[in-house]
Amino acid sequence: MSLKSTPKRIPVTAPVETRDALGRPLHDLRISLLDQCNFRCPYCMPEAEFHADYEFLRKQQRLTYDEILRVARVAAGLGVSKIRLTGGEPLLDRNLADLVVGLASLPGVDDLALTTNGMLLAPLAEKLAEAGLHRVTISLDSLDEDVFSVMSGGRGDLQRVLAGLDAAERAGLSPIKINVVVERGMNDHTVMDLLDYFRGSGHIVRLIEYMDVGNRNGWRMEQVVPSRELLQQVGRRWPVRRIDQNYPGEVARRYEYIDGQGEIGFISSVTEPFCGGCSRARLSADGVLYTCLFASHGTDLREAIRNGADEKELTDILSRIWLQRADRYSELRSPELAEAHMQRKVEMYRIGG
Ligand code: SAM
Ligand code: SF4
Ligand code: SF4
Repeated sequence: MSLKSTPKRIPVTAPVETRDALGRPLHDLRISLLDQCNFRCPYCMPEAEFHADYEFLRKQQRLTYDEILRVARVAAGLGVSKIRLTGGEPLLDRNLADLVVGLASLPGVDDLALTTNGMLLAPLAEKLAEAGLHRVTISLDSLDEDVFSVMSGGRGDLQRVLAGLDAAERAGLSPIKINVVVERGMNDHTVMDLLDYFRGSGHIVRLIEYMDVGNRNGWRMEQVVPSRELLQQVGRRWPVRRIDQNYPGEVARRYEYIDGQGEIGFISSVTEPFCGGCSRARLSADGVLYTCLFASHGTDLREAIRNGADEKELTDILSRIWLQRADRYSELRSPELAEAHMQRKVEMYRIGG
């Protein structure tokens, strides 16, 4: 729903904890800083679609840091305690540390994280940590040079990503999570080597089911490797046991190696959806607030801000959006729903993962 089509603004006094129509609180805000990326992962921004002539957002279309901070402050007032910076590739934004300083000082925000492909991380990690960033998640789909190259659209440099990871560790941006999108026939045969490499490192590898986000990656169910299949594979080599969630609504199911070599997570959005605990809102780089990764509509906060909305009005808008929220796409996922959503979902690179 855009603001233009909203018939009448209903003022809402912000409750201490805002719950949506399905009783879910608002705890997380994911902020996509820009829609551009230095990679072309085929599952997210395939080169054929995102070519040299593709028109990304212009600077004036993107929210300024001041505007982002205003939305984040209001969200924190409604219960958001976790903020994640994402994209596109957030580290393409060279002044990012300035924004981190502002976000880190927001009352109520106790977890400030960044998701990155890691290519530009090495020279920036320390500065970001000093600015107040707590931790990073690095997306790294394979340690096999050839597979990594294909999965980054021919643009990634594995050694630079690993150098970024080392720099993040030195800067104390931990615990570091490593996101691995597993795609059948693409990188599934390299997953065990990757787990072996990171066992005992203190980093948490999270195996993510390839999702049908966006409309451009040509997703097919056959490409999904169900988490339970991977769990069996892992358990045969290194026995694991389930461990408790860190907090309600955590997306990854956590396991630990019985031999004490660390933790591994499974994010099974396709085969074992977790909408029931989903407490995440997503802000796109051009200021549209989405309440689901698979949404086709959002609310244009940039328009409201640039039309002079003050903090009270923004609070009312955000409260209303959240109170009305009833999204649970993954739980309802079916061929019919996928068909109905075809060409209408917002792209992952626009709202982040
Ligand atoms: N560029 C940064 C990165 O890759 O870490 C941040 C943005 S990226 C959209 C955020 C996360 O979404 C990454 O971990 C990426 O692997 C994941 N992702 C993108 N497309 C996906 C898909 N179709 N299925 C599952 N995860 C996906
Ligand atoms: Fe870029 Fe991240 Fe998407 Fe890969 S997953 S294309 S690195 S935004
Ligand atoms: Fe949350 Fe939507 Fe994903 Fe369900 S499908 S977990 S509501 S983002």
